[in-house]
Amino acid sequence: MLETELPLPAIDQPVRLPATRAAALDRLHAFLPGAGRAYANGRNHDLPGHPHVSVLSPYIRHRALTEAEVAGAVLDKYAPSTAEKFLQEVLWRTYFKSWLERRPSIWLDYRQGLTRAQDRLATEGGLRSAWEDACEGRTGIAPFDHWAKQLVETGYLHNHARMWFASIWMHTLRLPWQLGADFFLRHLLDGDPASNTLSWRWVAGLHTRGKVYRARASNIAKYTDGRWDAETLGHQLAREDQVTPLEGPEHPSPAPVPEDATWDPALRTGLLMTEDDLHPNFLWSRGLRPATAAVLIAPDGRSPLAVSSHVTQFTSDLAQDALARCAERCETGPVTADPEDILAWAEDAGLEQIVVPYTPVGPAREQLDRLAPRLPSPVVRPVRAWDAAAWPYATAGFFKVKTKMGRIFEAIPQDTQT
Ligand SMILES: Cc1cc2nc3c(=O)[nH]c(=O)nc-3n(C[C@H](O)[C@H](O)[C@H](O)COP(=O)(O)OP(=O)(O)OC[C@H]3O[C@@H](n4cnc5c(N)ncnc54)[C@H](O)[C@@H]3O)c2cc1C
Repeated sequence: MLETELPLPAIDQPVRLPATRAAALDRLHAFLPGAGRAYANGRNHDLPGHPHVSVLSPYIRHRALTEAEVAGAVLDKYAPSTAEKFLQEVLWRTYFKSWLERRPSIWLDYRQGLTRAQDRLATEGGLRSAWEDACEGRTGIAPFDHWAKQLVETGYLHNHARMWFASIWMHTLRLPWQLGADFFLRHLLDGDPASNTLSWRWVAGLHTRGKVYRARASNIAKYTDGRWDAETLGHQLAREDQVTPLEGPEHPSPAPVPEDATWDPALRTGLLMTEDDLHPNFLWSRGLRPATAAVLIAPDGRSPLAVSSHVTQFTSDLAQDALARCAERCETGPVTADPEDILAWAEDAGLEQIVVPYTPVGPAREQLDRLAPRLPSPVVRPVRAWDAAAWPYATAGFFKVKTKMGRIFEAIPQDTQT
């Protein structure tokens, strides 16, 4: 790879993201004035400090702040047409979540593909050093190296940078996409099984079949305010004729929509949250009165390799914050990544049922599914109104979810009650 002459700009200052719901709400309210046309005009620009996007994803991913709350706050301020772009982006998350939930084998395929790619690191000459250079920002492709370091140091990348990075990873550097998706999951504070896996598959041409995303030098220069030299990059990045969609099997048919569940109010109940939903407001509004609450987290399950300490700390702190908010309603148990602690909690509290906000496909669900048969009492998994409204539409592409936007927004009042 060519060594560029351009000096690397300093890593953009990380945005401050305290791991509390209060900080998430502050951030949402500070962002609202920019959520209308300003967002539509500026959102594609990847600039220091990320002035044109919300940087709410680390909170939304864990549902310390919910999609319904974000959409509701935006709709209180703007006509749907004015904030259409921002609302659509929130719905992309919902769409990916729903799509994977109804095709869980895609997550398993990714995991198996990752194992195979890791095996190749041991056997294929040069692959390990190319992978290490990419993760450590030593490829000589200046913006790519910048984003690799920015990701590791700050836990966040702008959406456009993620697209360019993923494209260069697989189409220019020709590294297995699963290793790149894993690199993201290990370092992104918002690392999410659905948005991450399906976005990498989209860049590869596996999600929208045959439609591949190619990073272009002129596009990078334009949307980074000329921070990178388009001419140098033009010589480095894969040309159109060098980029072909990856091959893969047909998408599986969508599984039925998961059903909502109700608990028995007469039984002694524990609330068990996971890192996928740390705001149990919808359960309070449905009348849940638990004796005790706890949180089971699984950040280490995001990768077979070591997950960044930023990620584990952020997840654990957000979980602590969620539990502290429950303390005014019930006893509190542990925040833990160890299922044995949850077994002890359930047994010591003499629980007769355990209510868990529905946990979608991913590491937390895997951990919960392994634990559930060992718990002394049945697990009940209620579904949020937002998810129940959106999941039926995840049968094909994003368009269907987009056209049903209004129907999904009807879930906002129910999903935001406390
Ligand atoms: C290769 C790749 C990997 C990605 N991995 C993740 C991931 O692991 N976790 C994750 O949350 N997002 C992921 N995204 C989607 C998107 O990049 C981030 O959600 C977005 O950049 C978050 O920044 P923000 O909160 O400032 O977004 P904003 O632009 O302010 O958007 C508001 C919210 O809408 C949602 N959103 C916005 N864009 C997208 C999108 N393209 N897809 C899905 N949801 C979106 C997010 O919840 C976001 O917080 C990935 C995208 C790509 C291309």
